[in-house]
Amino acid sequence: GALPGWRDVERLVGDAHARFARDSDGIVADYIPVLAEVDPELFGLAVIEVGGGVHDAGDAQHPFSIQSISKMFVYALAIQEHGHERVREIVGVNNTGLPFNSVMALELNAGHPMNPMVNAGAIATTALMPGETSAEQWERVREGLSAFAGRALGLDGVVYASEARTNDRNRALGRLLTSYGRLEGDPDEVVDVYTRQCALAVTAHDLAVMGATLADGGVNPITGQRVVSAEVCRDTLAVVAASGLYERSGEWLFEIGLPAKSGVSGGIVAVAPGKGAVAGFSPRLDEAGNSVRSQRAIGYLSRALGLNLFASA
Ligand code: GLN
Repeated sequence: GALPGWRDVERLVGDAHARFARDSDGIVADYIPVLAEVDPELFGLAVIEVGGGVHDAGDAQHPFSIQSISKMFVYALAIQEHGHERVREIVGVNNTGLPFNSVMALELNAGHPMNPMVNAGAIATTALMPGETSAEQWERVREGLSAFAGRALGLDGVVYASEARTNDRNRALGRLLTSYGRLEGDPDEVVDVYTRQCALAVTAHDLAVMGATLADGGVNPITGQRVVSAEVCRDTLAVVAASGLYERSGEWLFEIGLPAKSGVSGGIVAVAPGKGAVAGFSPRLDEAGNSVRSQRAIGYLSRALGLNLFASA
């Protein structure tokens, strides 16, 4: 079925926000120093409908760094550029069953990154962005993600600097990919573009618009701009369903039945194809690095809105 009417969705988004307003489970990420300083009480929810309906609640307009949620949109841009087959071969589509920054996952698979939602696969995906220089690749990423959001996104320079100072592990993953012959270009430069893409500042509202663009067959429902093809959306959402919440992706799909992508700053966006997207922002995380309160509020809303893809009734 379709989404309920605008007023009903609006009421449910408000209900979901109120219901989890005092939920304080989970722990704020601290391996990126500046993320540890964020106010853990922040809590925003947003729903964007493919028909253009907008719903914001709480801190839906509070900016934060997009972090790993960037991976799903850069992946979509990479498939748009290089096609289904080539990207599948280079990056893979299977869950690693291991944490997002695992080095062991790479070693266990002869340096193949397995999927684009873990850091190694995301670094390999960023390397596929067109451009003669890493500055051009970064510009392509920024422009592409801005088209998904329907506004010009900018870098959070403080988050970028903090992460660039401490991202030895991602640099190790980049070098390891190079050592296996699985990365084009200078690995440190590719990792730098990846670090910048993770530091793009967005809001929960932006994430819902970005997700709704994937729900809408690649057309941004607010601006009307075509960003990627419908086939690219289909491919991207399949991979996100399998690995968007890392080693917790199966549990999420079993309980909620929607592709969703998380990031360590506390954002999550879930996409209901043909209907819209639901985004949450709340900084406290579970052990896999997924926002606890965003998962709960999005789960509640998905049930209330009847969004489970596997439900026939
Ligand atoms: N920039 C972060 C990192 O590379 C992204 C991780 C995440 O959001 N899970 O570690």
